[in-house]
Amino acid sequence: MHPSTPDPVPLFALGRAELAAFVAGIGEPRYRAAQVWRWLYRGFADGFAAMTDLPGDLRDRLEASARLHTLAEAARTDNPDGLATKLLFRLRDGQLIETVLMHYTDPADDPAAAAPIPRGRHTVCLSTQAGCAMGCVFCATGQMGLVRNLDQGECVEQLVWCARLLASADEHLTNVVFMGMGEPLANWEATWGTVRTLVDPDGFGLSPRRITISTVGIVPGIDRLARTGLPVRLAVSLHAPDDALRGALVAVNATYGIEAILAACRRYQAAGGRRITFEYVLIDGVNDHPAQAARLAHRLRGIGAHVNLIPLNPTAGSDLRPSPYARAVAFEAELRRAGLGTTLRMRRGIEIQAGCGQLRSRMVDGRIGRTIPPSVPTLNPEAS
Ligand code: SAH
Ligand code: SF4
Repeated sequence: MHPSTPDPVPLFALGRAELAAFVAGIGEPRYRAAQVWRWLYRGFADGFAAMTDLPGDLRDRLEASARLHTLAEAARTDNPDGLATKLLFRLRDGQLIETVLMHYTDPADDPAAAAPIPRGRHTVCLSTQAGCAMGCVFCATGQMGLVRNLDQGECVEQLVWCARLLASADEHLTNVVFMGMGEPLANWEATWGTVRTLVDPDGFGLSPRRITISTVGIVPGIDRLARTGLPVRLAVSLHAPDDALRGALVAVNATYGIEAILAACRRYQAAGGRRITFEYVLIDGVNDHPAQAARLAHRLRGIGAHVNLIPLNPTAGSDLRPSPYARAVAFEAELRRAGLGTTLRMRRGIEIQAGCGQLRSRMVDGRIGRTIPPSVPTLNPEAS
């Protein structure tokens, strides 16, 4: 390309109004923008040539001035049970990010028999950052530190990639969770732009209720989410009932402690009244004592809360272990006794290293040093 030629515009990075402005800028009428938008998010066209109802000269001009793909598939792994597909993408600057496509089938269907993609609900778990600055000691992404934010196009394209896979089996995307690599509320613009594209009725057309943003507890981000007025679901990763322990597990707790986070959750509910999911990674002998469950339940009193319990998926960067099953069940029972709704999460995708950031870790094996202390102080009353 000639050095003075402007870089092609990445179309997945544009919202609907921006796409309209871009199309107007190349001298095309407004309805062409609507056509292109539908090709991107309804037709999942994999190139301009596939946009068959556009005039040939427009396709040529799009080819010259715009770009669709900025992600390249670096690896794909299917879970042996057929219920999850893990995609590893290489970004244009070489960074690797992960996206997981999970399938939830009707119990009457045999997913293995229905391979490659079973019928049912399909949830994409997408990444919003390469790495993460929040410093959760148990998290493979946190162990990398933050490399950079993904832009909106890189976020949206993960969804398009999965939607295309599903379309090839006559299935479609039904749910999206911002639970891959990175902290979505530390990358607000890209996260929110992606949500807007997802809920656009002429695009994915997803209900906001089928979108979940998971955060480590970025208080200004929770407030901002409340102000949008869109009933997107909120998940908050708590992991501990008190600041002493949470501070040892989650570095950013020094900035946004539990009380500040729970106050933001109350404001969020006052603004829209939606139930919040609290995520709690169960770590053997660290945060899994029944007394800690009771304390957690006490602190969540007055908040419409559901607790998702996730047995830790061990990472190379720490010696922490998952709670044994019986202990996880006892922890859950204590929460239920206190009246909380709970889910002890299935370890979906774990067989393909689909825990946050883990496929990437394996790919770059050796490059991730043990920069995080391998253990945290044990504040478990039973163990001390
Ligand atoms: N940064 C956001 C979203 C991405 S992490 C957040 O922290 O909420 C998504 C979820 O995966 C979080 O609840 C996180 O605590 C959990 N997680 C991270 N590493 C994990 C591990 N090794 N095992 C189990 N869950 C993990
Ligand atoms: Fe970041 Fe979430 Fe991992 Fe914590 S758990 S380091 S916030 S991605």
